[in-house]
Formats: sequence, C-alpha cells, structure tokens
Amino acid sequence: MAQMFYDSDADLSVIQGRVVAVIGYGSQGHAHALSLRDSGVDVRVGLREGSKSWAKAEAEGLRVVSPAQAVEEANLIMVLAPDQVQRHLYKESIEPHLVAGDALFFAHGFNIRFGYVTPPPGVDVCMVAPKGPGHLVRREYSEGRGVPVIVAVEKDETGNAWPLALSYAKAIGGLRAGGIKTTFTEETETDLFGEQAVLCGGTSALVTAGFEVLTEAGYQPEVAYFECLHELKLIVDLMYEGGIAKQRWSVSDTAEFGDYVSGPRVIDASVKQRMKDVLADIQSGAFAKRFIDDQDAGAPEFKALRAKGEQHPIEATGRKLRGLMSWVKSHDDDYVEGTA
Ligand code: NAD
Ligand code: MG
Ligand code: MG
Ligand code: MG
Ligand code: MG
Repeated sequence: MAQMFYDSDADLSVIQGRVVAVIGYGSQGHAHALSLRDSGVDVRVGLREGSKSWAKAEAEGLRVVSPAQAVEEANLIMVLAPDQVQRHLYKESIEPHLVAGDALFFAHGFNIRFGYVTPPPGVDVCMVAPKGPGHLVRREYSEGRGVPVIVAVEKDETGNAWPLALSYAKAIGGLRAGGIKTTFTEETETDLFGEQAVLCGGTSALVTAGFEVLTEAGYQPEVAYFECLHELKLIVDLMYEGGIAKQRWSVSDTAEFGDYVSGPRVIDASVKQRMKDVLADIQSGAFAKRFIDDQDAGAPEFKALRAKGEQHPIEATGRKLRGLMSWVKSHDDDYVEGTA
C-alpha cells in the first residue's frame, strides 16, 4: 500500500516560516499562490515583464516581481512555468540566486527526471504535484476541500525536506484530500504515460475515431457528437464515483453486455502493446527529447498538430451544439473557445 499523508501529518508553521516565490501564474501558479497566501504564507509571484498574468495576480492582492527578484527574496521557489520553459528560466533567473538552504519545488518532475535542470548542492529538491487541473485545485481549496497531491523529495540536503514538502502540500489543501508518497521518476513517467495513453491522447483519439466511424457511415454529426463525446462525461462521473463497476451498474444491461463483448475488440492486445511502446519512449527520454527539440526550434510540430486538431469536424459540430446547451457552462475564466 502506498504511503499516504493527511493534514494531521503536516505542520503548517513550517511553510509559514519560509519566504516563498511562485514562478508563473497560470493554471497551477494562480492556485498555489492564492492558497498559500490564504494559508498565511509569505508569497510573491515571479513573472516576466509584460506577462499577461501580471495584472491578474496584482488584482488578487499578490505582490508580483521579476523571476530573478522573487528567487532572490525567497528561500523556497516553486517552479510553475511551462515545462519546456523551465530549464531556460532556471539558468537565467533561478540558479544565479540560489543559496545553500533554499528549496526548489516542482509540480511535475520532467526537468529533473530528464536532466534538464541540475540543482546545486545544499538545495532541497521537492515535488508537490496536484492530481488535477489548477483551476480545480483552487476551487476545492476555497470550498474547504482539496485535490489529492503526490509528494516527493529528490534531494534532502537540509534534512528538513519532508516536513517542508508536506507543509506546502497542506497549505494548498492537498492533504485534506490526501497525499501519496512517490519519487520524481515515478511521478514523471506515470504522469506522462497517463496523459498520453489514457487521459488526453487515448481519450481524444477514441472519441475522434468513434465520431468518424459514425459520420463516415452516414449518421448525423450532431447525433455522433452526443454519443461519442457529450455522454462521455456522464460515464466518467460514474467511474469517478464508484469505479468501472458503478458505471456498469448504472447503464442498461444491453450497454453492459456490449461493454464486455465489444470493448476488448476495440482496445485489444495490439493497443496494449502500443501503450507499452509509448511507455518505453517516455522511460528512454525519447518523448522528452522530441518535445524539447521541437520547442527549441519554435514548436513547428506542436503548432501544426494543434492546428490540425482544431480543424477536425467534431469541433465545429461541438461548438454549434454547446451554443444551444445553456446548462453546459465552463468553470474556467481563462479558456476561450476556439483559441489555443
Ligand atoms: P501554464 O501554461 O498554465 O502557466 C504557465 C505560467 O508561467 C504563465 O503564467 C506564464 O505567463 C508563466 N511563464 C511562462 N514563461 C515564463 C518565464 N520565462 N518566466 C516566468 N514565468 C513564465 O502552466 P501549468 O499548466 O500551470 O504548468 C505549470 C507546471 O505545473 C508544469 O510543470 C506542469 O507540468 C505542472 N502541472 C500542471 C497541471 C495543470 O493543471 N495544468 C497539473 C499538474 C502539474
Ligand atoms: Mg533567495
Ligand atoms: Mg502532466
Ligand atoms: Mg446510449
Ligand atoms: Mg495549455
């Protein structure tokens, strides 16, 4: 059984005794900065000159300074800039201002696991990674709950890294829901695999393929959209509440029988083998290299794939239908449909 942590396992005064810099104010950054502040922690946000997030953070009453100044002032730095930016940011604005006794925190182990960032001796290296999108992390905290977190210590140079990491996790509400002890390697590899094979890549491809099969067979795109995309949320909610078993209990016997006989025809052993190939590319660093090399070249592959995805007919069908469904409201202030 994995080692679990709850509020009673952490002492909030540990993080309240630190000076924290949150670098970045996006999905995770705004959630961490605001919840740390509300937990009585001295926090400043580090952003580039001209960042669109600057005014937003200030409007919440947070102090915003340059990343270099934030690191200079702080003795705990949480790096919440995009993964592909982190190693440049680290070289230019973080490393020059780190001193022994500082702690460097991440919400994803990518740059440490693949060797893009190598912190100096004397600096603790920790991870507090919420297992949910940042906007949900903030909403749950505000409502007295939390999103589960996974916690890891890569380097415990001071001997205090664990109490510090747990205190941080508590301050953003993570230990209300529960923390799981992991390592940078396990978090990075499972996070990338989960998002590629199942949550993002796998689900997007499954939904799109189902929509294509129905529309190519002459069925109406609106009907195909409801069957293959819209209803997915209802099914996933049941799984979230009670596992796959609850989903099977709630659907008709017809649907349940179809699940048993047709699911494994679609997701067969060859799919599982290709999932293993995806995992192997993650473990070897091949995926990381492809992503970072593309980003360093100005992201031509990433931008082309994003544009291709947006042009798929399922998106136009969905926009039209969602416009008619007044009850489907986004909880996300930042997301604007039709923009990446
Ligand atoms: P994001 O893209 O939503 O936000 C990034 C922020 O960094 C923005 O405020 C941007 O202005 C800022 N930024 C960009 N370049 C910068 C620079 N050079 N210097 C300073 N700030 C800069 O990012 P995100 O999705 O919150 O991801 C942040 C980290 O959290 C990543 O390591 C990611 O893997 C991890 N994570 C994200 C989620 C999520 O919900 N999105 C969940 C778990 C972990
Ligand atoms: Mg400092
Ligand atoms: Mg991820
Ligand atoms: Mg049905
Ligand atoms: Mg994004």
